[in-house]
Amino acid sequence: MKIVVTGGAGFIGSNFIRYMLSQHPNDEFINVDKLTYAGNSENLSEVRTNPKYRFVKADIRDRAALEPLFKEGVDAVVNFAAESHVDRSILQPELFVLTNAAGTQTLLDLSRQYGVGKFVQVSTDEVYGTLGATGLFTEESPLQPNSPYSASKAGADLLVRAYYETFGLPINITRCSNNYGPYQYPEKLIPLIIYNALHNKPLPVYGDGLNVRDWLYVEDHCRAVDLVLRQGVDGEIYNIGGHNERNNLQVIRTILSELNKPETLIRHIQDRPGHDRRYAINADKIRKELGWAPQYHYESGIRETIRWYQENMAWVEQVLEKSANSGL
Ligand code: NAD
Repeated sequence: MKIVVTGGAGFIGSNFIRYMLSQHPNDEFINVDKLTYAGNSENLSEVRTNPKYRFVKADIRDRAALEPLFKEGVDAVVNFAAESHVDRSILQPELFVLTNAAGTQTLLDLSRQYGVGKFVQVSTDEVYGTLGATGLFTEESPLQPNSPYSASKAGADLLVRAYYETFGLPINITRCSNNYGPYQYPEKLIPLIIYNALHNKPLPVYGDGLNVRDWLYVEDHCRAVDLVLRQGVDGEIYNIGGHNERNNLQVIRTILSELNKPETLIRHIQDRPGHDRRYAINADKIRKELGWAPQYHYESGIRETIRWYQENMAWVEQVLEKSANSGL
């Protein structure tokens, strides 16, 4: 199979390409990435010389740049490319709509025109909005996004659905909970807290710190997307989550205790507007229909992740320096 992976230089995309090359050595992967502040070609340095891997620097909105690639013949598209940081979406909503929704539409059009056999849209549980203290999101939960980020992702999901209903494009949508693991940009909670704690810097926590997320190790997400790509029923949506609900303070305390750092580093700051209180995923459908199950326990996965950042502080410094130099 020849598979276009967009956003493959980011956190999940780079883990996905590494995972896929190890699991499917005969498939071919073309990584289309614009290399925004969040994209880093160094994330894939170990596969750069693999003859089954190719990198194309392009914006998913740039039809002219992408068309030659689709003309070559593409079997599948897995769309990870996105502006992904909620805080940034509050400052720059338009960029999120253009990349996440309009960019997806460009990819859908090309996929339709050139007869792509499967289009997998990597979406998020955030499109469902927020939950109270109980209950879980199912694939039937209404879309009630609360941030410009989640609204732009929900818009993309609706376009993907429409291309299935209107044009018969074979699609799937995956909606995963919060990921953690190696190569995550250090503006996101877990790498940010590890970095600051290691440098004895204050640890910013929104509001009371009791917002709950359902954490999943990134490789378990990659395995789920691979299953959907190969076995997903056309037109279907699959939720992905690990039943690892933790509030932000719990996550931070685990990191502090692993690093032997004091809780006095924690600083509560003013809450983010539209901050969703709780996400939790019902992943029964992908478990029952495709046989997926997470392989990492949160406790061991988070320990492994902390170790990875400790051993790869040079990577963290390098991505921070890159974005500081570009003014982002
Ligand atoms: P990320 O920000 O680390 O990576 C995004 C990548 O997309 C970067 O490499 C960036 O350069 C690239 N990109 C951005 N705009 C582009 C454009 N216009 N054209 C081409 N490339 C562009 O994000 P991530 O955390 O790896 O998330 C990947 C996908 O998974 C996103 O679609 C996100 O919505 C979804 N998702 C993320 C999580 C999570 O916890 N991180 C959970 C569920 C779903």
